[in-house]
Amino acid sequence: MAKRTKIKALYTSGKINETYTVMGWVRTFRNNQFIALNDGSCLKTLQVVVDFENTDDALLKRITTGAAISATGTLIESQGRGQTIELSATDIEILGDSDPEKYPLQPKRHSLEFLREIAHLRFRTNTFSAVFRIRHSVAFAIHKFFNDKGFVYVHSPIITGSDAEGAGEMFKVTNFDLDSIPKKEDGTIDYSNDFFGKATNLTVSGQLEAELGALALSEVYTFGPTFRAENSNTSRHLAEFWMIEPEVAFADLVDNMDLAEEMLKYVIQYVMENNEEDLEFLETRLLNEEKQKPQNERSPMALREKLEFCLNNDFERLTYTEAIRILQNSKPNKKGKFQFPIDQWGADLQSEHERFLVEKHFKKPVILIDYPKEIKSFYMRLNEDEKTVAAMDVLFPGIGEIIGGSQREERLDVLERRMEEMDIPSEEMQWFLDTRRFGTCKHAGYGLGFERLILFVTGMTNIRDVIPFPRYPGNAEF
Ligand code: ATP
Ligand code: MN
Repeated sequence: MAKRTKIKALYTSGKINETYTVMGWVRTFRNNQFIALNDGSCLKTLQVVVDFENTDDALLKRITTGAAISATGTLIESQGRGQTIELSATDIEILGDSDPEKYPLQPKRHSLEFLREIAHLRFRTNTFSAVFRIRHSVAFAIHKFFNDKGFVYVHSPIITGSDAEGAGEMFKVTNFDLDSIPKKEDGTIDYSNDFFGKATNLTVSGQLEAELGALALSEVYTFGPTFRAENSNTSRHLAEFWMIEPEVAFADLVDNMDLAEEMLKYVIQYVMENNEEDLEFLETRLLNEEKQKPQNERSPMALREKLEFCLNNDFERLTYTEAIRILQNSKPNKKGKFQFPIDQWGADLQSEHERFLVEKHFKKPVILIDYPKEIKSFYMRLNEDEKTVAAMDVLFPGIGEIIGGSQREERLDVLERRMEEMDIPSEEMQWFLDTRRFGTCKHAGYGLGFERLILFVTGMTNIRDVIPFPRYPGNAEF
């Protein structure tokens, strides 16, 4: 078989009058002559021109939308409109037929909802191939960013025996026969006979383990799947999502904010430089979609303009206390427009509040710090006021929280006191407390929700459309 050339390579470095073999999937076949062929290497299709007068009728009939074919021929400058080059085919081979009567993807616009139901085929659409090429780019850029800075990629466990964080939100892991679970005399489950000899769960975060790494390797990050059994049927929550969690020794909250802002800008810049064609396509898609919305619900900026804006502006940094004051005095609060009115200091911020601050008030990404200790986790460093902790949330337009992080409590006595106050069982956490017993030092880190970042970069609006096979309440298809 002739050596295959990717369509992207033909567009970037194909030589006119040379012979090439391409392989891909037929998008459309017009006039028994023009095949639009896509192989996923880029958004564009390659026009393959068939010499239909000298081609078997039976073969022509098998060139249908969705079929996989191999085409060999000469690369020529295109006469037609809409493309610069085309392949004048001398040989066409059908690799895999596709019955046009049964193939669910028609060469027309399908709704995202419909495509979600056929997620096994949606990779073959322009929208999803663009999204998943960008998703790849973002993942690569994140690894590159941390690698270039000398961070060590640490793999935190996916099955965890610690439930200090997110109890109740966790998926259980067991190999018990669910029809006859061993019980103790008092009726509680006897985990001593379970696979690990104890109760285990899928991880909700790799942070605690990342801290152990940071207090030896100085700068580490995790990048792995996390799982939350929260019953959140929103466009920003998944039951299985990927998280990036850097953790840095000898760093405080300001260092943490600086790292987060630098990383986000680096990744956005990387995608703007490397995925221009896909971004342009998604930008147009979004503009078309928004034409159906009333004027006041449309985004004020086009996709690439929004990314550019994010690169060129410092994120607004302010304390929770300052944010509460802004929210209390805001129009929607005074007019009773918030679903959860802000009546006092200490209130947990909902997505509507975060989005007001980002989209209406500051009109740029915002980093909120120093939250009340009651609404944040036990491991966040207690500030001098004893009322707030050194937490930070990074809030993005259209999304709300994209990053949650903090400077960690490195003082053993304070940490133990906080754990007691918050009912965290310290017997099971001795391994974690050991870092505070032996060579403790200030350190900080954060968790970035990978899919939320992809939402921002692609301009997609539902998190179920930026991961190949989304898991959410009632759905674990494929
Ligand atoms: P939210 O309030 O939006 O539910 P959270 O406070 O529970 O978020 P963290 O526990 O701080 O989030 O997790 C860190 C990051 O992981 C978040 O900033 C967000 O980007 C992402 N994230 C959290 N939960 C989900 C989820 N269910 N699906 C996708 N991403 C998530
Ligand atoms: Mn949550």
